[in-house]
Amino acid sequence: MSTIAAISTPNAVGGISVIRISGENSIEIAEKIFRSTSGKKVAEMNGYTCAHGIVVDRDGSQIDEVILSVFKSPKSYTGEDVVEISCHGGIYITKKILRLVLESGASLAEAGEFTKRAFLNGKLSLTQAEAVIDLISASGQNEFKYAIALKDGAIFRRIDKIKSRIISVLVDLSAWADFPEDDIPEVDPDNLLKTLKDIYHELDETNKTYDYGRIIREGINTVIAGKPNVGKSTLMNCLSGFERSIVTDIAGTTRDIVEETVQLGDIKLRLSDTAGIRNTDDIVENIGVNLAFKRIYEADLVLALFDNSVELTDEDLQLIKKLSDKKVVAIINKSDEKSMIDRRVIDDNFKYVVEISAKNNDGIDRLVDAVNKMFIREDIDAEKGIIANERQKNCIVKAQSLVEQSINALEQGELLDAITVLLDEAAGYLLELTGEKVSDTVIDEVFSKFCIGK
Ligand code: GDP
Repeated sequence: MSTIAAISTPNAVGGISVIRISGENSIEIAEKIFRSTSGKKVAEMNGYTCAHGIVVDRDGSQIDEVILSVFKSPKSYTGEDVVEISCHGGIYITKKILRLVLESGASLAEAGEFTKRAFLNGKLSLTQAEAVIDLISASGQNEFKYAIALKDGAIFRRIDKIKSRIISVLVDLSAWADFPEDDIPEVDPDNLLKTLKDIYHELDETNKTYDYGRIIREGINTVIAGKPNVGKSTLMNCLSGFERSIVTDIAGTTRDIVEETVQLGDIKLRLSDTAGIRNTDDIVENIGVNLAFKRIYEADLVLALFDNSVELTDEDLQLIKKLSDKKVVAIINKSDEKSMIDRRVIDDNFKYVVEISAKNNDGIDRLVDAVNKMFIREDIDAEKGIIANERQKNCIVKAQSLVEQSINALEQGELLDAITVLLDEAAGYLLELTGEKVSDTVIDEVFSKFCIGK
């Protein structure tokens, strides 16, 4: 394989930048451009050691003072010989050193190519490699915890266990089919059925972790809804910590959808503040209202606002009707004003009700508690492995459907051969999930999501 190089730090000015080189010629390439202060050659350095020195241009002139680290195969991130040059963090210097490395024989790494090599050299499973992406983009404690669990191989172990059970059934089936006259005990259909149902259940439990993982990773798609002037923009601003929506006393001023991501306790919300829901003849405003209903329909969570200071209106009742099968926190806003609202209607329709004053930033902690209570799943343990993406989910769904078909086949008394074929295919999808048996196209697709230098 060729020797590759890329800048592994962001393309920005910073204290330090790192240029990473990986492949069989990395040490030879580093030798060409690096002069250590001690006089020691790069080839003489042990793995996991570093040296101070300078990077020199082809005419011998100094480009930068650097620290060079050497990782020898197979004890490196990629499993190959790796050299990392930590230089001063200017864009110009970093690019100049990279250019020199490329001129000295390396080729520019593609997106995710270092991690791809780590996978191809057996340093990481495919699911662990995918976890690297999540780890890099983790923005909250929960997200971090789950990416770490994934990187530690939690989902790999979980899938591996299910896969081993399927393979053990396949071994029994084929032993019996191939050597029926020998002393091998006959496959007991009741036992087999029970095992298959167990396997199905385990796949189903794993499948269920996907939505939770998505919520932790991407945040909860949340809509703030309510009639005009109820305080939607004020709440949005209060949650996001700065003025984004236009707050006015004129009913109907928030016509566009404003989006913001906020971290509420352990949970991340992707908030959109919608146009106020009201009956109107204004065409532009009507588009906004329809869009608001569409957003409500698509949302994972609705923060439904009601005004404490006035009686419930038709618009409020219309909103309540739209929310019957949604996850909702009903928020009674303007708790600082004299109460005119019919609280019973709200209490009768919603499980989670909180009183706040968005204007005075009062009661927001109760809102945070309610949201966390709704979404933090104590029963889902990140350390047992959570499905991280669509690719993994698709493999599970396909395996699950094949196991279901094998259960049906067995119940209908079909030949064990048919069951073997179905289970064999199911095991194939689990091998694809872990990356043990996966096509180049899938591998390329996984790593194309990485950034260059990772
Ligand atoms: P929206 O149309 O639903 O986005 O409502 P706004 O956020 O624009 O607020 C409408 C009006 O209600 C503004 O004058 C706000 O200052 C006021 N308001 C918002 N929240 C509160 C609150 O908690 N208490 C009181 N008294 N007024 C509020």
